[in-house]
Amino acid sequence: MYTMGVDVGSASSKVVILEDGERIVTANVVQLGTGSSGPQRVLEEALAASGLKMEDMTKVVATGYGRFSFDQADRQVSEISCHAKGIHHLVPSARTIIDIGGQDAKAIKLDEKGGVSQFFMNDKCAAGTGRFIDVMARVLEVTTAEMQDYDAKATEPAPISSVCTVFAESEVISQLSQGTAKENIIAGVHASVAVKACGLAHRGGVTPDVVMSGGVAQNAGVVRAISKELKQNVIVAPNPQVAGALGAALYAYEDALKAMKK
Ligand code: ADP
Repeated sequence: MYTMGVDVGSASSKVVILEDGERIVTANVVQLGTGSSGPQRVLEEALAASGLKMEDMTKVVATGYGRFSFDQADRQVSEISCHAKGIHHLVPSARTIIDIGGQDAKAIKLDEKGGVSQFFMNDKCAAGTGRFIDVMARVLEVTTAEMQDYDAKATEPAPISSVCTVFAESEVISQLSQGTAKENIIAGVHASVAVKACGLAHRGGVTPDVVMSGGVAQNAGVVRAISKELKQNVIVAPNPQVAGALGAALYAYEDALKAMKK
């Protein structure tokens, strides 16, 4: 039996096709989010990669900021529930999830069964999100994917004191003009994101294991900064950007089983 999870995010679109609630047949990402051709493109890519058709999917669940715009789903489930389900499946020991996406950041606390006991979210401000990093990368003339390589060479993170993305951008420009090394500015950008994310996590208490999900978890510089801030090891979920889509595919599998029992 095949089920599909579709995560229509603000920055990217993700699809996971699951066989019998266990095996990931394909996991695809298109770096274009809701309101773009991203959702349709990632769907086509996933079907082409798996050699399957939409009719082969017993159930489809959509999640993410743009989940209500995806009309081929049987139902929609919140990103919090889907990240929790996906991460519990991948890392059963996870008790605190830090999920940093394109335009929001979340801290989710899990119980032993993977249920959500508490969550805290910042979706009001770009600071502390992927968008903040993307804006700074542009000013620094590096790609988002290159940010971690620069961070690894930093000797001393440059202080980024502003909590506002627009003012922080001015600070970065000013640091550049003063001749501060790009590596150190980038480490400062990552430290700023880490402080924000950890502020959310501390609100519910940080219980190990701490696991990161979302697109920003692919940035080893942010992961390092968060580990330093929390003073503990942080696990990066395998293929962290698709954790929400995986959770959606798992919900779709549970829905399919329930429908069979009826
Ligand atoms: P959403 O679900 O809100 O669309 P994602 O979880 O896909 O967001 O995260 C998007 C963010 O992930 C981007 O803003 C970017 O900063 C970051 N990102 C995406 N790809 C990479 C990469 N290869 N390396 C580092 N960061 C990345």
